[in-house]
Amino acid sequence: MSVDEAVAMIAVRIAPVADTQVVPLAEADGRVLAEPLIARSPLPRFANSAVDGYAVRSVDLPSAAEATFAVVDRVAAGASAHAPLTERAAVRIFTGAPVPQGADTVFMQEDVCVLPDGQVVLPHGLPAGANVRLSGEDIAVGTAALPPGRRLRPQDIALAAALGATELKVRRRPRVAVFSTGDELALPGTAPGAAQLFDSNRVMLLAMLRRLGCEVSDLGILRDEAASLGPALRAAARGHDLVLTSGGVSTGDEDHVKAAVEGIGSLVLWRMAIKPGRPVAMGVIEGAPFIGLPGNPAASFVTFVYVVRPAILALAGAAPETPVPMMVRAAFSYAKKSGRREYVRASLAHGADGAFEATKFPRDGAGMLSSLVETSGMVELPEQVTSVAPGQIVAFFPYTSLLA
Ligand code: AMP
Ligand code: MG
Repeated sequence: MSVDEAVAMIAVRIAPVADTQVVPLAEADGRVLAEPLIARSPLPRFANSAVDGYAVRSVDLPSAAEATFAVVDRVAAGASAHAPLTERAAVRIFTGAPVPQGADTVFMQEDVCVLPDGQVVLPHGLPAGANVRLSGEDIAVGTAALPPGRRLRPQDIALAAALGATELKVRRRPRVAVFSTGDELALPGTAPGAAQLFDSNRVMLLAMLRRLGCEVSDLGILRDEAASLGPALRAAARGHDLVLTSGGVSTGDEDHVKAAVEGIGSLVLWRMAIKPGRPVAMGVIEGAPFIGLPGNPAASFVTFVYVVRPAILALAGAAPETPVPMMVRAAFSYAKKSGRREYVRASLAHGADGAFEATKFPRDGAGMLSSLVETSGMVELPEQVTSVAPGQIVAFFPYTSLLA
C-alpha cells in the first residue's frame, strides 16, 4: 500500500476532538481555532497616517505646481485633530495618528520644506490618498479574520488582539498514549542487561507529539507478549484519542502487537511502501485509533512524520498541512526500488555556484540515530523514481518544517 493510500485510509477513521475550551491569547499559540474569528471592528479602526508629515485635502493641491500652506493643527499618535481641516491648510501629523476629518493625503516630512514663518512648501506630484491607511483596508468589519482549523501562530494571535479579542475558542488538545514494546528495552537510568538497549523511541515520540500540541501519557515499555499487550492497549484506548506504539509490528515470531490489536479491535492496515518504515500498523480499538510504528529509530521518526503527524492534525481539528519542500540539487547518487517512497537523510550545503545542494548522510541504516542527528532534513524520493544522479533537482524537507 502506498503512503498516500495508507494516510487516506487512516484519515477516514479519525474524527476531530469535539470538545472546545476558551483560552487567553497568551496561551493560544499552537492551539487549533474552533470557530472563525469574525472582525467586530474594522482594522485599522480609523484612517491614520502611515508616516510623520503633513496632512492635507488633495482637492486643495494645484495640479501642476507646489503648494505653500499654513500649518493649522498638530496631531500625535493617540490624539485627535481639534477641528475638521479647513481649505488650503495643512496639519502636522505623526505615524498612527488619526487623519483629520477632510484630509485624505499625507506628505512625508522628508519631502516638505518648512519656511521660517512656519508655513510648509509641499512638492507637486503626490497622488491623492498617499500615506493614509484607510479604515478596514487590512481587515474589513464582519469578515472572517481567522478560519476555524487554524493552528494559531504568533501572527494570528496578534491579529486577534488587534481586533480586540482577549481569548479564543480552541479545541481541546488530543490525548495520546505512548508505549514502547520490546523485551530488549531498558529504561534509561536503570542498569541494562547484557542484551538490552535503552528505550529511545518513547522520549522522541513524546517530544514530537508535544510539539504538535498533544497532551501525552507516557505508558512505558510493554513486553513482547500477546497476553499483556492486549489489555494494556485496551486500557489506553479507553482514556485517549489515539494510542501509539513503537516496535513489534513486523512479521517476526516475536512481533505481537498486530495480533494483540486484532484480538481486542480491528486492524486496518499493517504495511506501507515507505523506507525507512514499512511495518506500520493502523487499527481501531474500542473506537479509538491505534498506530503502531516500527521499532528502528529512523523508521519510527519517518513514519511518525508522514503517517502520525497528519493523523494528529486531523484529530486536533486542524486544517491539513502539506509540508512544502525546498527544491535543491542532489550532491549524491542513489539507486532505489520502484514502487516505494524513500526518505534519504541529508544536509544542505552551498555548492560551488552558491546554490543549495543536498548531501546524503553516508550511513542510512534504519537503526542509525546519527543519521537523524547529524542531518538537517530529508530528501523525498517518490515511488516511481529508481535513481538519483548528482545535479538532479530533489525535494528536501528541513526537519524544522516536519516537526512543528
Ligand atoms: P521491532 O520493530 O520491534 O522489530 O524492532 C526493530 C529494531 O528497533 C530492533 O533492533 C529493536 O531493538 C529496535 N527498537 C525497538 N524499539 C525501540 C525503542 N523504543 N528504542 C530504541 N530502539 C528500539
Ligand atoms: Mg521488537
